[in-house]
Amino acid sequence: MKCQQQRLENDFTELSKFGPLENGGFTRLAFSREDVAARGWLQKKMEDAGLEVRIDAFGNISGRRKGLSALPAVVMGSHLDTVPEGGNYDGAVGVLAGLEVIRTLNDNNLETKRPIEVINFSAEESSRFGMATMGSKALAGKFDLDTLNKLVDKNGTSLYQALKECGYAADEIASVTIEPGQIHAFMEMHIEQGPVLEMQGLPIGIVTSIAAPTRFKVSIEGRADHSGNTPMAIRKDALTGASELILGVERIASKEAGEKTVGTIGYLYVTPGAMNVVPGKVELGIDIRDVNMGDKDKAVKAVIELMDAIAERRGLKISYQQLCNDEPVALSDKIIKTLKDAADKLQLPSLIMPSGAGHDAMNMARLTDTGMIFIPSVGGISHNIAELSNMADIYAGTEVLLQATLQLAQE
Ligand SMILES: [Zn+2]
Repeated sequence: MKCQQQRLENDFTELSKFGPLENGGFTRLAFSREDVAARGWLQKKMEDAGLEVRIDAFGNISGRRKGLSALPAVVMGSHLDTVPEGGNYDGAVGVLAGLEVIRTLNDNNLETKRPIEVINFSAEESSRFGMATMGSKALAGKFDLDTLNKLVDKNGTSLYQALKECGYAADEIASVTIEPGQIHAFMEMHIEQGPVLEMQGLPIGIVTSIAAPTRFKVSIEGRADHSGNTPMAIRKDALTGASELILGVERIASKEAGEKTVGTIGYLYVTPGAMNVVPGKVELGIDIRDVNMGDKDKAVKAVIELMDAIAERRGLKISYQQLCNDEPVALSDKIIKTLKDAADKLQLPSLIMPSGAGHDAMNMARLTDTGMIFIPSVGGISHNIAELSNMADIYAGTEVLLQATLQLAQE
């Protein structure tokens, strides 16, 4: 039994009609007109494949293929929304691969013991409402009406309003929650969004765990002074203090914490921001991630000590607010083995690897046995208009997903 590569490729071509930009990228922000149009297209595709379509109060769309029993289903999926100026593969790969798996079963008139579902999670990207993987969080029961009203985009539209405008029954948000055991297994195929598979020339990654971030918003206060008349020895330069912190975070993440620790300072606002003024204030954000909580704690402790030390030595006031301290998620050993066996059977070399980025799979892992397949990202590039994955790799990943689904759906 084989998936149809051409049919899968056609799906990506059709999907590329939703939110294309002149520069070659895509913007399908969560619940935007483009996102809603892509959802409508997907729903039609699901219906064409004979699936029973259900849209929950958070807008998550699932298509269900009946099983011979009413046992809990095997579920596959990811997301169709994108970051601003993103690509056509992040998320889409997992939804379209799931759909192709089901169509392949249909082609072969193969009945499975368990039902099989493909799901498109709403609002995986944090770009619009500042929170990521929201659709799967909703399944895990993490939203109530209050939260829907509190989350607001930059135009002042609340998540509640956005859901209502799309025609979703936001008032019934409590009905979205599912309980552990209601799903037999969940698998998400996704682009790697990093360079490891391509560097090693491997078509398939099998994910063991998903790293989680600890984030700080940091404010460094010194004193703005005249750049000509203030001697070096008495300056309280907030930016030179920030520079020490930036290099310190790099050192801690690369040498002092764990093997897989990464640390990033991705933005910096300098005030007053003039060439002839000693910088008086800097605001910056620190993002530290690891798949190992112990190593992450070690890095976080070292960064906090570093901030205190810089403040004291340079006479600066450094204050920080911890925005999150999330726990890394280990994926299911059972699904890891199922995916590895599937790749081996197809003679596709694979790498057992962690994920540095968050995915819907991390929320699903709290509800059921969960696994992830990675496929290579060309140049490791993602969240960028240059994002690309080769169709041959997407096809290979879909074949692995098909074999694993067959295995799990007969249990
Ligand atoms: Zn994604």
